[in-house]
Amino acid sequence: MKDSLEHQLKALLPRGRVLTSAAQLAGYGADGLGYKNFLPDSVVIPADAEELAGFMCGARALGVPVVMRGAGTSLSGGPVAVQGGVVVHTSALKCIREINVEGFWCEVECGVGLNDLDAALKPHGVFYPPDPSSGPVCTLGGNVASNAGGAHCFRYGVTSNYVLGVEAIMLDGSVHRFGGPAGGRGPWREDWKRFMIGSEGTLAAFTRFWLRLLPLPEKVWTFRATYPDMKTTEAAIHALVAHSSYPAAIEMLDPRGVAMVESSQMACGLPEGSFMLLVEIDGPEALVNARVESVAEILRHAGSQDVMFSDEDALRQKLWKARKASGGLLGQLSPSYVVQDAVIPKRALAEVLQLVYDEADAANIRAVNVFHAGDGNLHPNFLFDSRVPGELEKVELISKRLMQRVIEVGGTLSGEHGIGNDKSAYMPLVFGPDSMRLQLSVPAAFNPAHQMNPLKVFDNRHFIA
Ligand SMILES: Cc1cc2nc3c(=O)[nH]c(=O)nc-3n(C[C@H](O)[C@H](O)[C@H](O)COP(=O)(O)OP(=O)(O)OC[C@H]3O[C@@H](n4cnc5c(N)ncnc54)[C@H](O)[C@@H]3O)c2cc1C
Repeated sequence: MKDSLEHQLKALLPRGRVLTSAAQLAGYGADGLGYKNFLPDSVVIPADAEELAGFMCGARALGVPVVMRGAGTSLSGGPVAVQGGVVVHTSALKCIREINVEGFWCEVECGVGLNDLDAALKPHGVFYPPDPSSGPVCTLGGNVASNAGGAHCFRYGVTSNYVLGVEAIMLDGSVHRFGGPAGGRGPWREDWKRFMIGSEGTLAAFTRFWLRLLPLPEKVWTFRATYPDMKTTEAAIHALVAHSSYPAAIEMLDPRGVAMVESSQMACGLPEGSFMLLVEIDGPEALVNARVESVAEILRHAGSQDVMFSDEDALRQKLWKARKASGGLLGQLSPSYVVQDAVIPKRALAEVLQLVYDEADAANIRAVNVFHAGDGNLHPNFLFDSRVPGELEKVELISKRLMQRVIEVGGTLSGEHGIGNDKSAYMPLVFGPDSMRLQLSVPAAFNPAHQMNPLKVFDNRHFIA
């Protein structure tokens, strides 16, 4: 079976673009979570959109699952071949085709790295706001497919707010364009582009996008404040959200995250046991400068004794340091980790965080919280060792209890990472059978055998050859 698959793939793509040896496939078994491994039967790396279209033309006849993969930084088990099959790595489709400064849009291929796009836009005085913390690695294809968010999405909104158009290839090889540089519906009566964004590779292969740009803010001020407890931190978050200074970002690191940073080489002098808030305001210089003191005053009034702020790039980077370093440090601390991505109404923040601590402590599992506090987008990271029998099961039980409470307080399962196969078991906590059936009918309309990324989002979405 594997020989015949390899043979068929080599008929669809040039030889060097088909990977089949165990050593070549080893890097494609997992995503950013790392602890669950599903080796694909093969990986293909199309050189361009035409080669990808050629592959998709023949893909249905291969009779195996097709899984799209950008940089593989997903934290929900998205780009992994749970049912085996072919992983399509988009790393070669990385052309920025046009930056249209006058029209405030750009046209990019799906494999373009997010930070590469940022760097290319900067000299033109424009920017693309969605900013997942994985920016140095992740691709725009992964961002669109998972409707990525990021620190500045509190003010600017998430990826779906910036996608003007999507070019997508279906499993029969047909190429469709939804929207375009002018946005809207493109040649379609309905806005199908909205179906594509956040579809997690279950509908089609995206090749290129038209993205909306904004003028770079004239001025940015960054603030860092620490608090002795959750109550005062929460008061600061509520006051900031309600204030007309309208911050671009409100990020939080809990005391366990602070301890993790302070015991590493990235230490930056945060007080032991403190909660850290990182806030940013931006916009026209005169307007933003006029708001600086009122933001600092809000942070102080809520109970911070140590509010630091700056508009100088070097110092701003220092203020960001603890927040930015935390993601990488998590990976160094423990062999495996699971991160949840729940969104909760902000009034429930203290209660849900306490539940995370209580559950994790009772199970002797380390939990670190670093997240987009302005959006109520929690990211509890549970650190464990998947080689120790029973540890994963403990983390899964804590996660399930957490998700149950999240739903009870009016929250939902994912703010930005998507459902993938890691969170699919929680879908019935939010959606009833009728809703699940209706939602499942969408991928079924695009690929009835569920050949595109099976067992993602819905844990009963099996590919049936
Ligand atoms: C340290 C760290 C920090 C992170 N911070 C954030 C954050 O702040 N905000 C946030 O939203 N996410 C964050 N993430 C999660 C992740 O980086 C994002 O979900 C990102 O959008 C994934 O991009 P990727 O290129 O790695 O996609 P992948 O992980 O390769 O794929 C993600 C999904 O997209 C699909 N896909 C990829 N390319 C295509 C394509 N061309 N056509 C169709 N489907 C496709 C895949 O099948 C999969 O379902 C973080 C991850 C890490 C490791």
